[in-house]
Amino acid sequence: MTSKICIKCHVNQVISNFHKDKIQNDGYRTVCKTCRKDIRRYHYVKNRDKELDQMKCWRESHPDYMQDYMRNWRENQKDDRCNSCE
Ligand SMILES: [Zn+2]
Repeated sequence: MTSKICIKCHVNQVISNFHKDKIQNDGYRTVCKTCRKDIRRYHYVKNRDKELDQMKCWRESHPDYMQDYMRNWRENQKDDRCNSCE
């Protein structure tokens, strides 16, 4: 087998344009490398937006936690400095 049709863009391409995949009968992925890159980028952008949204939502519903966290962080910084001075 030297070529294969991508199930996403439906273009017959050389087999080197497909990633290897042991699960597939022919040993190659059903989606070409170019389409796979697009899919990965799409999921990355989609998940990044979702994660940012979730973080924002969580912070807004836990304002005290963030204040405590920042206060503890600042105190720890102070402690670190004092320890290194001694
Ligand atoms: Zn493709």
